[in-house]
Amino acid sequence: MSTVGFVGLGNMGGPMAANLAAAGHEVKVFDLVPALIAGVEGGTAQASALDAATDVDVFISMLPAGKHVAGLYLEEGVLARLPKGALAIDCSTIDPETAQRVAAAAADKGIAMLDAPVSGGTAGAQNGTLTFIVGGEADALERGRPLFEVMGANVFHAGANGAGQIAKICNNMLLAVQMAGTAEALSLGVDNGLDPKVLSEIMKQSSGGNWALNVYNPFPGVMDGVPASRGYQGGFLVDLMTKDLALAMTTAEQSRSSVPMGSLTKNLYRVHEQTHSAGRLDFSSIQWLYRPELVGGEGS
Ligand code: NAD
Repeated sequence: MSTVGFVGLGNMGGPMAANLAAAGHEVKVFDLVPALIAGVEGGTAQASALDAATDVDVFISMLPAGKHVAGLYLEEGVLARLPKGALAIDCSTIDPETAQRVAAAAADKGIAMLDAPVSGGTAGAQNGTLTFIVGGEADALERGRPLFEVMGANVFHAGANGAGQIAKICNNMLLAVQMAGTAEALSLGVDNGLDPKVLSEIMKQSSGGNWALNVYNPFPGVMDGVPASRGYQGGFLVDLMTKDLALAMTTAEQSRSSVPMGSLTKNLYRVHEQTHSAGRLDFSSIQWLYRPELVGGEGS
């Protein structure tokens, strides 16, 4: 069993840390929000991120964006505090450049670092079924594997440091395009007299079938237990999706790639966020752009 420092205990990090503790690891937990520290069952509460980085074998972070990751490792001094030979794993979704810069600074201090963004949402974090998309050295991934296997069901090695972030950015651009497209198709059906439940079932079993239809339907009342059926509360925030789409645009600019679908979808999300003050709602609330009568519905 390992001693693990875990910083960033939000929608994703909290349940991930709890799963590690439940598997028997000693997990030293810290977040800027004290209530989140207390909420990690089995975790050992720490007074600071530096305390969570003291005398650990592995250090894991799950923060909102690149500025938080650079701030934690480089400015707050987590890299300087970690024991030589420790493994650092950043599971946040951030820009590949920051992932590479922090990993290079870690290597200078004798610390192996992985970027390991995740897919699978809050349900995956709770159930320990996340997919880890890893960038970094293969032997560092093998050292992290026992922990990945507690928190997740799949581990992919995308390539060198930063490659995990690039793969994750590609995935989330596709996810956003699919979610907006699904909301649009459902709205077209409803405009023409179809029941969104019936239409969802038809498309799920047909060539339009996709992840949103299977497990994350954006139309309220179609599927139980998803954000659309609780006023788009919880889940994956519009603010985080617009962040990921902005990362996709920057990445595309750097590689001179053409991403018209991603660009359009990013702008749809921006309009939605500004029109409906939707930043703190789940990203499936993009349905509101197409169905204004749903805005502010039950639970939102
Ligand atoms: P969140 O906002 O719920 O949690 C982030 C946590 O980090 C917050 O509790 C915040 O207080 C804490 N934090 C920020 N700076 C800190 C610091 N310096 N020290 C200690 N704590 C600090 O976000 P989340 O939904 O858990 O997402 C985290 C990351 O995972 C993001 O990069 C997101 O894009 C990615 N992600 C989220 C989902 C999802 O479904 N929510 C799915 C896949 C990936």
